Amino acid sequence: MRAMVLHATGPVEGRPLHLEELPTPAPDPGQVLVRLDKCGVCRTDLHVVEGDLPPLRPAVVPGHEAIGTVAQVGAEVPSLRVGDRVGVPWLHRTCGRCEYCASGRENLCDRKEFTGYSVNGGYATHVLAEEGYALRLPAGDATRWAPFLCAGIIGYRALKAALPRPGGRIGFFGFGGSAHLTLQLAARQGFETVAYTRDQAHFEHAQRLGASEVVLADAARPPDRPASLDGAVVFAPAGEVLVQALRELRKGGTVAIAAIHMSPIPPIDYDRWLFGERRIVSVEANTRADAREFLDLATRLHLESTVALRPLAQANEALADLKHDRVVGALVLDCAEP
Ligand SMILES: [Zn+2]
Ligand SMILES: [Zn+2]
Repeated sequence: MRAMVLHATGPVEGRPLHLEELPTPAPDPGQVLVRLDKCGVCRTDLHVVEGDLPPLRPAVVPGHEAIGTVAQVGAEVPSLRVGDRVGVPWLHRTCGRCEYCASGRENLCDRKEFTGYSVNGGYATHVLAEEGYALRLPAGDATRWAPFLCAGIIGYRALKAALPRPGGRIGFFGFGGSAHLTLQLAARQGFETVAYTRDQAHFEHAQRLGASEVVLADAARPPDRPASLDGAVVFAPAGEVLVQALRELRKGGTVAIAAIHMSPIPPIDYDRWLFGERRIVSVEANTRADAREFLDLATRLHLESTVALRPLAQANEALADLKHDRVVGALVLDCAEP
């Protein structure tokens, strides 16, 4: 198999991922080997590659929005067969026994493992997946579906955390791969949607996707207007954007942070921006129930992803484009063997 391997973390401009030939692994009991078709590029991959998330093993293949077909089935795998179409997401495995797993919060499991971080992921032609964590997918366009597997599911979990009941006014801060899916989901569920961006291309993208309002502003120069949001989701990994979101939030509102890593948060004026029962909540990974709920919604509500496809060997360049905001929508790598 071929894979883009990370041996040492560093700035993505230094091309830390190397295309290598590796032995194709055999599935352990409970696992399947998946021959990959596509893998989405998520901001978390950038944090893994650049070392914002500390390395967990000497070398790793990133990628956790992987879609392919089962090529080999290990022992004790009753529910999957060769040829089944599956998605391989961020959550590789949980312990199933800790207090979090036992209470329906497996996303908080202390011993969970992650695809493309604690185990090898989808920037490759093949990947191993656990039977119970691989997501069954309908046949269809893997390029369109790849961003659903993390960007979509995490956005969905963040939307539920920020504003559980449709009907309110929800703001999205940082209009990238996750926000462009979450905005569609919210709009089709009856939310009023507001996209905040400092980028003209993202501004126009949000308009095309049907945002109720798009605000061109950055955290350093917030718009001078009364707070109007009932809930907000921050996708940008920047502490000052969280403060910007709080300034737009009405009393009783919640800001959910859909980021695994964030730069330090500037001091917050409690009296002005937090008092009034405003809440800040982070979102960590997702449960398998979140994944099933979101994939069902994505199908029923006909969510569309805006995607650019790149060759697997250009994963470094793809991550650099993501880092420098040169992407409208999401990037997906073509993992299929020629
Ligand atoms: Zn657990
Ligand atoms: Zn992700």
